[in-house]
Amino acid sequence: MSDLDKAPIPKAGIMQINAYKAGGGQFSGAEKLYHLASNETPHGAPQQARDAVVELANGIHEYPDPGATKLRDAIAKKHGLNAEKIVCSNGSDELLTLIANGYIAEGDEAIISQYGFLVYKNVIQANGGTVVVADEVGFTVVVDNMLACVTDKTKVVYLANPGNPTGTYIGAGELNRLHKGLRSDIILVIDSAYAEFCLADDYHDGVDLVEANDNVIMTRTFSKLYGLAGLRVGWCYASDGIIAVLSRIRGPFNVNATAQVAGAAAVFADDFVKMSIDHNVKWAGVIGQRLSGLGIKVTPTHANFMLIHFDETGKTAEEADRYLCSKGVVLRRLEAYNIPNALRYTIGSDEANELVLSLLETFIKS
Ligand SMILES: *Cc1c(COP(=O)(O)O)cnc(C)c1O
Repeated sequence: MSDLDKAPIPKAGIMQINAYKAGGGQFSGAEKLYHLASNETPHGAPQQARDAVVELANGIHEYPDPGATKLRDAIAKKHGLNAEKIVCSNGSDELLTLIANGYIAEGDEAIISQYGFLVYKNVIQANGGTVVVADEVGFTVVVDNMLACVTDKTKVVYLANPGNPTGTYIGAGELNRLHKGLRSDIILVIDSAYAEFCLADDYHDGVDLVEANDNVIMTRTFSKLYGLAGLRVGWCYASDGIIAVLSRIRGPFNVNATAQVAGAAAVFADDFVKMSIDHNVKWAGVIGQRLSGLGIKVTPTHANFMLIHFDETGKTAEEADRYLCSKGVVLRRLEAYNIPNALRYTIGSDEANELVLSLLETFIKS
């Protein structure tokens, strides 16, 4: 074979990545579909955000503000933060990528927990990094296990808190202990995608750790609670040093104009936020109770989805999924997370939840 016949070769690690598969698809026949597989809100986007998008329609021929200034100012105002330490992004997935691009090179290691969000693994591997996995116990992160994975090569630790797909969290004391156990040159990424849903007294989103340290990044998203998943908008809060890196490697117009105005409006949609959280709390309780009554074990959730286990039902998650899909309900299969006998159930509308519960009752009793 001459040199001219050689195929292009990607960077090390890239072909080891399992390309991301979105939740659900194989439904049949049902008249109405309930997609409860991607942790989207059942409430649509806040009206303020929809109005802002409509209003912007006449301006979409112009490039967006490269600094996303109004969006950063809105976030800073709402959360009492310094806007200079915020970077916005095309979904928080982009930030997870930028962090890896900025800090992980071939031969470096990055730590995730056993059921850590799949995107972490992909962005580490895309940079030739080695993924080091810390075991969880009871679908919950164990700080000592994370710390035991640290080596001279460790560059980044990715933690989702609350976790996805588990819905569990670690408290502020444990989070601080994790950070304290890391060298100052290791970045701790605290992915707080579900922060607003976690109402536990000892939960903290990570802002304090960012303000007190140079090696912590908190990431947030508008995709879940705020209902803007389709627009792709996320943000992070981090030290000046980390912000200086992310700002250099992000695309100049990485947050599109509609995402910027919708995000800036959604930040202040307090009534929508309260309604959404109340709905979530109510249904998490009802679903937990009713599924337990059917012998379906539910991991206690601190997010807008529930990990439901079929081990003690005499049936499999695969069978349950097939049945639900045939009736138009799509939950998330978890083979990719190596939890094959559970499904992740995104809490839906009243109507969707009633349907899921009655279908599962029929299924379990059949
Ligand atoms: C959904 C999710 C995100 C990503 O959200 P974006 O839509 O990219 O902002 C990040 N982390 C976790 C744990 C998630 O579940």
